[in-house]
Amino acid sequence: MSRVLADRLKQLQDSIAAACARVGRPEKSVQLIVVTKTAPPEDIKEVIRLGCTELGENRVQRLRQVAEDINAFLAENAENPDIPKEVHWHMIGHLQRNKVKAALKYSRLIHSVDTLRLAEEINSCAYHLGQHVDVLLQVNCSGEPQKYGVPVGAAMYMAEQIATMPNLRLIGLMTMAPLTMDKDRVRACFARAREIFEEIRAEKVVGSKFKHLSMGMSQDYPIAIEEGATMLRIGSALFA
Ligand SMILES: *Cc1c(COP(=O)(O)O)cnc(C)c1O
Repeated sequence: MSRVLADRLKQLQDSIAAACARVGRPEKSVQLIVVTKTAPPEDIKEVIRLGCTELGENRVQRLRQVAEDINAFLAENAENPDIPKEVHWHMIGHLQRNKVKAALKYSRLIHSVDTLRLAEEINSCAYHLGQHVDVLLQVNCSGEPQKYGVPVGAAMYMAEQIATMPNLRLIGLMTMAPLTMDKDRVRACFARAREIFEEIRAEKVVGSKFKHLSMGMSQDYPIAIEEGATMLRIGSALFA
């Protein structure tokens, strides 16, 4: 067993708890999604043994492979009380419409809905599978043109549209901060996401399930927590 991974996870959990304490939020209000895109299979199994059950991948092909591998691992260890019975996968990266079906098969939540056409495709696939699918709307709060996500000014309209799709449940927003050492810019981005989130919630176009803000990665999660994140997506802080 890798002490390193256990130690890093402990440090991360302590740091998350400290950030929550600074702003008077309960620790349980923040969910850690462990991003496994760079992790070898043994490390993924190790974090699962350590109790992490919310896992994220950013590419469908890899999601499929890793999820199958982990399913086999969980099945082999079904009688082992030290290993969780199930894990949940989050699709956090840009999703192409021709990959939606596979994404739905393996993921519990799609964080990266960034166009109406993608939302419609997910809704249609979900209908044919007889499912209801939880999704987040990805908003581009940094204004960087190379980033995925709908522009801030279009977020309300997009949320209204997605809310009308019967097989989708819009449960919140996702955003990514700019890649910069400038903490003020990072904070401004997360604060903007929070504002839009509150505006959408106040408009009542979305249901009571609209309560998640997926933001914060290895470099910026303490700021994200301070600005109201409910889901953190963290990879390199654990697997570097
Ligand atoms: C890789 C990735 C993360 C995790 O980033 P780290 O810096 O490794 O913590 C979070 N969100 C998305 C969309 C990613 O692709």
